[in-house]
Amino acid sequence: MTSVALTIAGSDSGGGAGIQADLKTFQELGTFGTSALTAVTAQNTMGVHAVQPIETDIVTAQIEAVLNDFSVGAAKTGMLFSAEIIEAVATTLSRYPVFPLVIDPVMIAKGGASLLRHTAIAALKERLLPLASLLTPNIPEAEVLVGMPIKTMKDMESAANRLLEMGTDAVLLKGGHREDTLFAEDLFMSASGEQFLMKSLRINTKDTHGTGCTFAAAITAELAKGVPMADAVLAAKHFIHAAIADGISLGKGHGPTNHAA
Ligand code: PLP
Repeated sequence: MTSVALTIAGSDSGGGAGIQADLKTFQELGTFGTSALTAVTAQNTMGVHAVQPIETDIVTAQIEAVLNDFSVGAAKTGMLFSAEIIEAVATTLSRYPVFPLVIDPVMIAKGGASLLRHTAIAALKERLLPLASLLTPNIPEAEVLVGMPIKTMKDMESAANRLLEMGTDAVLLKGGHREDTLFAEDLFMSASGEQFLMKSLRINTKDTHGTGCTFAAAITAELAKGVPMADAVLAAKHFIHAAIADGISLGKGHGPTNHAA
């Protein structure tokens, strides 16, 4: 039977991040991708040029249309932009039977554009984190969520613990933004006591646009196929490492990770 995955995220007209990255990754990993659009961005490899959020009624209607028809195996959220959209997503998802939900707490694009209003951070913590099977922050996002600087592996561990206390079942704290190490070290921790570190050699490339979206989408695709959480995270780490290594030098700015890795 074909596995179905759902992404609730923003559109990147440049095709490297957001909904486009998610759907390409779902397809690559053998799942049927469905989507609910939360915002449209005018974007290319050089940056985000404009953002238009989608009306909350339409966000809700898209999620309902998918969930009333398909048997969704797992879902992810990406760019949610506002407290109102977060509220609509959380309320709608709560009305359906539970499936694994991956929350990628997208906040700021590499070029500096805000993809989540500052006023939406409380809603993300209070409404969405308690629904999450897995939260996938990078270091700057985790710093905002826990309100402490994260410099060392010890800091990563205490931040991950604080995030578990906020109600997510598991955390994947991605260490790619730490510059003091030769490795990209990602820490997985679950409320049930599982903990491991995934280490890969840091790849020096500018073509990393959409890395976070692609990583979370790869985990979601594995979960949709019924793969257990820890195995899904490990498989996705291999996928994203290869995707970054194969990054495509397209456009004039940061090219996309390769979703066909
Ligand atoms: N645009 C959208 C719609 C996104 O969801 C994301 C994901 O984080 C980005 C842009 C950011 O992409 P990056 O920071 O990898 O360039």
